[in-house]
Amino acid sequence: MNRRGLVGLAGVLAGAMVLLGAAGVRAQGKLSPKWEELTAADFRLGVQQSKGTCLLPFGILEKHGPHLPLGTDLLNVRYASLQAVAQEYAVVFPEYYFGQIFEAKHEPGTVAYSLELQLKLLQETTDEMARNGCKKILIVNGHGGNEHLLPLFGQAQMDKPHDYVVYVLDGERSKPGGPAKKSTGIDYHAGENETSNAMVSRPDLVHLDRAASESGADQKRVNLPEDVYTGIWWYARFPNHYSGDGSVATKELGEWNMKNWIEAIVEAIRAAKADDQSQKIQNEFYEKSRHPLDTRP
Ligand SMILES: [Zn+2]
Repeated sequence: MNRRGLVGLAGVLAGAMVLLGAAGVRAQGKLSPKWEELTAADFRLGVQQSKGTCLLPFGILEKHGPHLPLGTDLLNVRYASLQAVAQEYAVVFPEYYFGQIFEAKHEPGTVAYSLELQLKLLQETTDEMARNGCKKILIVNGHGGNEHLLPLFGQAQMDKPHDYVVYVLDGERSKPGGPAKKSTGIDYHAGENETSNAMVSRPDLVHLDRAASESGADQKRVNLPEDVYTGIWWYARFPNHYSGDGSVATKELGEWNMKNWIEAIVEAIRAAKADDQSQKIQNEFYEKSRHPLDTRP
């Protein structure tokens, strides 16, 4: 065999080895969606497969009535997110629970980081995700106390140029049409809905027999017009960190809620993957914001 033949053969062999390597990855089954379970090389494939779309499921550590675990929001949001990515692949960031929860600081087990750290950690987390190829970051919110923090964070991305887009998906919402609810009052926290959801995500951690041992009733201790906001509103109404009645929860309602939540996450992942406008428009905005006097209608 002449030299050229050898070089040619080496090329073919190298090509075959690359193919075998790729086949080897595929032969081992589907890529895990979990960031921490991927090897460095598989992470590269995962980011490619997800088209740069990555999930940041956002939980918290706080009291959930007398009957649910402190990590209920984290457990539920990760359950829904992991079910969703089984339908529409995306890389999922590890456990994240560094959110806004000052209103539960009086209860055991709450971990409430300062507002500065919440914002800084979230920014550095999304920056690091993007540096690793996650150019579309879908924050899946699992905690009601983040409902002001996350839109603020999203808006704050306009301050400085970013080569990635942050999308925020609201927490689970009960939709009409499912199993009839048994409780009639307000059901904000550890009540019928959330307890039902936990009966799906982690039934082994639900202590239904304890759910009626505290009151989740609205104590209505502050009377202000609806359009006036005050930070003590939550504690004034639900000082036990319990809102609703978890004792009447059912797995059927949980399955209905989870199904709707999972569908919403799948829809959001697909929308983010298909979105080729947000980054372009962000870039236009960042460029114009460098010299506002040149901006004309
Ligand atoms: Zn919760």
